[in-house]
Amino acid sequence: MQIKIITNSEIETINLGEKISSLLFPGAILTLDGDLGAGKTTFAKGIAKGLKIKDDVNSPTFNILKCYFNKNGLNFYHIDAYRLEDVSSDNKNIGLEEVIEGDGVCYIEWPKFISEFIPENKTLDILVHILEDNKREFIFSTNDSKYFKIIEDLRGF
Ligand code: ADP
Ligand code: MG
Repeated sequence: MQIKIITNSEIETINLGEKISSLLFPGAILTLDGDLGAGKTTFAKGIAKGLKIKDDVNSPTFNILKCYFNKNGLNFYHIDAYRLEDVSSDNKNIGLEEVIEGDGVCYIEWPKFISEFIPENKTLDILVHILEDNKREFIFSTNDSKYFKIIEDLRGF
C-alpha cells in the first residue's frame, strides 16, 4: 500500500508528522530515505510534537541514537545511521535491535546502513524527494497492515 503527499513548507511537513503521530503505536518502525536536507528530521519534529514530547528534536547525526522518554505517552527513538556506513556489523551492534523492536516509536534515518537490525516487512517506509525550494514529496509505503490505517488517513491531507 502506498500514498504520495506533497508539502509546500517546513510547517506543512511538521503538520504532516503531527497528523500521523496519533496513529502510531508501541513497536512502530518508520524508515526514512532521501537526500540530505530533504526534510527527514523536520518530519520527525512533527511526530514528536504530536506525541507531546517537549524536548526539541534535532538531527542526531553525531549521536546515532537519541531517546526521547515520554512519561505519559509513547517513547520516541530517533536513529540516524548516517555515520555507521563503514562500520562492521559487529561494531555497530550497540543495542539497536532492542530499541528498534522496543516499546516506543522508532524513527530511522539512513536505514540502509543498519538494515541487518531492521525487521523486514514490519516497517512504514518513507521516501522524501526535494521537488523545488520548499516543495517536498513524501512517499509512504508498507506491506504491513498495522500501518494501513495511517495511509488511509493521509488521503485528503
Ligand atoms: P534531512 O533530515 O532530510 O537531512 P532536515 O529536516 O534536517 O533534512 O532539513 C530540511 C531543510 O529543508 C530545513 O532547512 C527546512 O527548513 C527546509 N525545508 C524547506 N521546505 C521544506 C518542506 N516542505 N518540508 C521540510 N523541510 C523543508
Ligand atoms: Mg536528518
